[in-house]
Amino acid sequence: MKRSADVVIVGGGCMGASVAYHLAQRGLTDVVLVERDKMLGTGSTGRNAGGVRHQFSNDANIRLSIESIALLEHFADHVGQSIDFHQDGYLFLLSTPASVDTFKRNVALQRSLGVDVQWLDAAQAAALAPGLNTDGVVGATFCQRDGIADPNGVTMGFAKSAQAAGVSIERDTEVTGIRVVAGRVAAVETTRGTIETRMVVNAAGPYARQIGRLAGVDVPVDPYRRHIFIAAFDRPAGATPAHEAAPARVPSSHIMVIDFATTFYFHREGAGLLFGMGDPNETPTFDTTVQWDFLPQVIDVAVTRLPALAEASISHAWAGLYEISPDGNPIIGPAQGVDGLFLINGFSGHGFQHSPAAGRILADVIAGRDPKIDLTQFSAERFGTGAVAGERYVV
Ligand SMILES: Cc1cc2nc3c(=O)[nH]c(=O)nc-3n(C[C@H](O)[C@H](O)[C@H](O)COP(=O)(O)OP(=O)(O)OC[C@H]3O[C@@H](n4cnc5c(N)ncnc54)[C@H](O)[C@@H]3O)c2cc1C
Repeated sequence: MKRSADVVIVGGGCMGASVAYHLAQRGLTDVVLVERDKMLGTGSTGRNAGGVRHQFSNDANIRLSIESIALLEHFADHVGQSIDFHQDGYLFLLSTPASVDTFKRNVALQRSLGVDVQWLDAAQAAALAPGLNTDGVVGATFCQRDGIADPNGVTMGFAKSAQAAGVSIERDTEVTGIRVVAGRVAAVETTRGTIETRMVVNAAGPYARQIGRLAGVDVPVDPYRRHIFIAAFDRPAGATPAHEAAPARVPSSHIMVIDFATTFYFHREGAGLLFGMGDPNETPTFDTTVQWDFLPQVIDVAVTRLPALAEASISHAWAGLYEISPDGNPIIGPAQGVDGLFLINGFSGHGFQHSPAAGRILADVIAGRDPKIDLTQFSAERFGTGAVAGERYVV
């Protein structure tokens, strides 16, 4: 392992890999990415639903989406990896007048930034997603260019390209300390020795606060467990190929449907369905054990919205961690109080899709270039000044 580097990146999820790729694109290759696991992308990145959308309430997040989706649409050409990107759209279902008012304002904002979002009534929403029960739905929004992509493909694409350009990637190596001298980062200590460096990127996902503490900086990010369940349907006799196995009363496209009031969401996954829902009673934890006693709450909502799920069995389930910031927006840029420490944390459940733009922005900041985006809403200082707009679409 190298004993010195211009930049050390802590964490090999989609964020760390994206920063490594974009630094390399800027000619910064004296970079070491350190990942404590045996493989990259096994943290939150490896447990996410793959959703990618333009539909956010905060203009800064919409800008991250526009830039990120533009790269994801041409990922194989630019980065050299296929990512199985299906742009079958995101459908948000609304069932309260208050959410209709909020979404109408946000559709106007999204359209003002050039995003093609449609406003739908319940019948139009039902027509997009066969099998959907829209009882109680008073409005819906749909953006065709939203979709589902492969988080592992994106992470490995960024990492392999960075490595080919000269970036070092050290797996099975845990960061155990950050040495700060006279208010500036001086070295990173790991289980395989020390790397002298003047710049460290905290890309540790839900562990961002722990990494910050190593340098004496509080990073306001907490881990919240979120579950994903995979539903399997009995395969009708003679059904081939596999995607014909689910009943006709389930969408055959990869459309992502989100019931905004409950946060229940689903999309087609192979021959079955992937679905999840936030637990409003969850408190911060690093525990990723599946809580099977939460499943009945999800099923109550799930079979109401998609009755065909009553015929399915749960083939498997997993839990991962959202890395939640106080306002649902990420922190991208320099940390406060220690020179040379940079943060790319707190993506609050939508980090996979924003990793292309977020990594590009942080690489520009580190390289001393203009990041070409107002970083106020992503700055670490905002929590002290109250200059926060926050994100309303945390699902
Ligand atoms: C159930 C679920 C569903 C989701 N669905 C979506 C979705 O549909 N769309 C979307 O955009 N986002 C989604 N997300 C959020 C998304 O997965 C995260 O925002 C994103 O993966 C964060 O990436 P990361 O690289 O910051 O973190 P991680 O992928 O967690 O990577 C951090 C890495 O840091 C490493 N690390 C930690 N501490 C150390 C240390 N001391 N030394 C070395 N390495 C260390 C970890 O091992 C880990 O590999 C979902 C998340 C979950 C849990």
